[in-house]
Formats: sequence, structure tokens, C-alpha cells
Amino acid sequence: MSNSEQTDRRQFIQKSILGGMAISSTSEVFAQSEEGAKESDLTQEVDVLVVGGGTAGNIAAIQAGRAGAKTLIIERGAQLGGTTTTGGVAFPGLFDAWGKQIIAGIGWELVKECVELDGGKFPNFAKVPKRHWQNQVFVNQFLYAILAEEKCEQAGVKIAYHEFPQSVQKAGIGWEVVCVGFGTRRRVRCKQIIDCTGGAEVVGMMGLPRLREEETQPGSMLFNLGEANNPGHHQLHRLYVHGADSSNSRTVTLANLTGRRSVLEKVRKEKKRLMHLQPETGFRESFRIVGETMITVNDYTNGRLFRDAVSNAFYPVDLHTKSGVKPKPLKPGTVPTIPLGALVPKGSQNLMVAGRCVSSDRLANSGLRVQASCMGMGQAAGLTASLAAAQSTTPLEVPLGEIHRELAKHGAILPGKS
Ligand SMILES: Cc1cc2nc3c(=O)[nH]c(=O)nc-3n(C[C@H](O)[C@H](O)[C@H](O)COP(=O)(O)OP(=O)(O)OC[C@H]3O[C@@H](n4cnc5c(N)ncnc54)[C@H](O)[C@@H]3O)c2cc1C
Repeated sequence: MSNSEQTDRRQFIQKSILGGMAISSTSEVFAQSEEGAKESDLTQEVDVLVVGGGTAGNIAAIQAGRAGAKTLIIERGAQLGGTTTTGGVAFPGLFDAWGKQIIAGIGWELVKECVELDGGKFPNFAKVPKRHWQNQVFVNQFLYAILAEEKCEQAGVKIAYHEFPQSVQKAGIGWEVVCVGFGTRRRVRCKQIIDCTGGAEVVGMMGLPRLREEETQPGSMLFNLGEANNPGHHQLHRLYVHGADSSNSRTVTLANLTGRRSVLEKVRKEKKRLMHLQPETGFRESFRIVGETMITVNDYTNGRLFRDAVSNAFYPVDLHTKSGVKPKPLKPGTVPTIPLGALVPKGSQNLMVAGRCVSSDRLANSGLRVQASCMGMGQAAGLTASLAAAQSTTPLEVPLGEIHRELAKHGAILPGKS
């Protein structure tokens, strides 16, 4: 084929694909390469292993990396952000309470950068809104995931997608974790583990106690019918998936099949085009850990300032049931706090959690599970784990004053100080 024939053919294909519209240029990049990437078996030593790269996990990893820990993050999906991105709940809250900001740090840095780059809008935190959600922030889920990757890279954090732990064993003063992916097996030796899987899956694998309700809150499948998705500016439509269970791949598959089938029914019934559909159901509730400290709903609604508080939290008590949700707002001036002890499984060493699996009773958890609070926990866990690794000790032995000092240095707002 001559050069001009090749050009004609390429133009023909482009026109066919684009419905007759010719494109003037294409862009291309070459995939990053890394030594050992093609080998199926790998052994790696790190200080901090973060399992789960979701709302809390990516913040934990970035913080651990910035604090100087050699950090690896293992994520079973294909991107960072978890419920914020893959679940499509790109509406994090709440960073403010009663007219001032109460959660900042790395989570806020990421949200702020995302909104600025996307030309989005910020709520006015100086104003107490009539409805709590009015001060939540719209973020562009696609941009958010890429910015999180960039921040991991800048902090020296290694990312391993499509992998999950298969076994965890004690090894010396730390752990040996075998992670598998498709065509891969990675043996990780680490000093500290932070379980950010949402449902405390690593804690469960270790046989440590977890709590779970007989009937959990519904999950939701997010989509758009009839109108295009405008990420970072609008919320998506939500469909309750009752019985959605994030326990394992089989239960997640069932939730996704149910959610998608229901969306298809809507398309047929409403005769509207399906303009957007998230790849996975968002899960509100599964397992919570039994930590050194258990946050009760009284602690939460009274804004108890724990001695070892490492982050603030703020949201109404927000329990979704079969008949919907009626958020119960907190009393004016109340700002709940999260103690370090609620991020440490009872009796464990060299192990922490961050995110919605925080040690709490069910009603406290219905408020604690929101994204800004998860980000705050992620930063506190990442920082504490990195200090514990550097001092060859376990998280609860790290001097609290040092944790507070370093958190403040990394931009976090300390409880009782906002
Ligand atoms: C429908 C819905 C609406 C909500 N609305 C709001 C709202 O408006 N505002 C708000 O702030 N919050 C909201 N929430 C709550 C909030 O989004 C979540 O509670 C929070 O994002 C949970 O964060 P997480 O880090 O604990 O878990 P996730 O963000 O879910 O992250 C867990 C990550 O771990 C990964 N993972 C799981 N198991 C493994 C494994 N074995 N190995 C490796 N990786 C694993 C997952 O793929 C995921 O990336 C909502 C939640 C839902 C579901």
C-alpha cells in the first residue's frame, strides 16, 4: 500500500468511527515501565503497607510517604478514590462545622486542587448552611483519581492495582503479606499495615473481631438517565440496592448485577438514554472493627473530646433504612472527635485501620463514615504508622505529642484547636 493509500485509509477509518467527523490529530503515550514489572513473582520490603486505595487509603498512603516511610498501596480496583470515584459519590463532606473549617490536611488539599483545576465552586464555610449537605463539595471524580495518583507518586508511594491480600502472617516485628493479582503474586514484608478496605478485610483475615449488623444500610448504584453527567458540578441519580454486601467478590458481583439490571429496567420504562453509569455499587455499611476505643453515639452526639483525639468529624447521625433516611443534625457547637484508639484493633500490634470501619457503634458510625472524616482518619493513621515504623514500635506506643505535632506540620487541624 502506498503512503497516500495508507493516509486515505486512516482518514476513512477515523471518519467511520466518528460518524463522518474527521479528527485533525491524535495523541499517544507509552506505558510506564518498571524493573520487574513483567515478573509474576515479586518480593518487596516496605515500612508501611496500605490495603485499599479508597477515600481514606490514598490519603493514608500519601501522608506515610510524605513523612518519609517507604510506602506501598494495594488496591483491588483500577484507580484510587474508592467510593468517592469508583462509587461515584464525588460529594465529600463535611470539612466544616458551625462556621469554620474543622478538617483540612491532605484530603482537603486534594479536594481543593481538584475543584480549582476543574473550575468548580467552593461552599462558604463561614456560613452555617440550612441543610448540612449544602456545604459538601462537588469534585470531578475522574480528575480526583488522577490527582490522587500524582500525589502518591510525588510522595514516593508505590501503587499496585488489581491486587489484594491472600494471606497475612507475623514476621519479625512486622508482617509478611502475600498479595495476588491476575498473573501476579507479591510477597510484601512490612513493619506496619493500615487496613483501608472499607470493611476491615485484613483485620478479618487476621481473625480479629469485627462487628456487623444483621441487616446493613442499602448500597446505591449511581447513574444518569436522559442528561449528560457534568462531573464536579452535579450529583448523579441514585438507586438503592437493598442487601448490597461488600464482603467478598461474589457478594459485590451480586450487588452490581442487581443495580445494573434495575438501571436497565429504568431505561426501558422511562425511554431515556443512559448517559452515565458507575462501574460499581457504593456500599454504605459492612464491618466495623472492635478497637481499643469504641466511639458510642453518645460520644458522637456530645462531641466528646477524647484524650487521644487525632481528627475531627462532622455529620448528622445518618442511618439509611428500607424506608429512606432522616438525618438527625448535631446540636449547635458540637464537633465529634476520633481517638487514635478507635483506629487500632483491640489487642493488635503494628496494625491500624482508617475509614468507615472505624471502631464505633452503629449510630455513631452512620455519621463518622462520611468522606472528610475518613480522610482525616487516613491522614492520622498514615502519620502514626510512619512514626511507628521509624521508631520500630507499635502505633499506640508513639508519643501522642509527636503525632499531634507532625499532623499539624502536615496541615491537619487538631481536635480542640480549630
Ligand atoms: C451511596 C452513598 C452515598 C454517600 N453519600 C455521601 C456524601 O454525600 N458525602 C460523604 O462525605 N459521604 C458519603 N457517603 C459515605 C462515604 O462515601 C463512604 O463511607 C466513604 O467514602 C468510605 O471510605 P473508605 O475509605 O472507608 O472506603 P472506600 O472509599 O470504599 O475505599 C475502600 C477501598 O478499598 C478497596 N478494597 C476493598 N477490599 C480490598 C482488598 N481486599 N484488597 C485491596 N483493596 C480493597 C476498594 O476497592 C476501595 O477502593 C456515601 C456512601 C455511599 C455508598
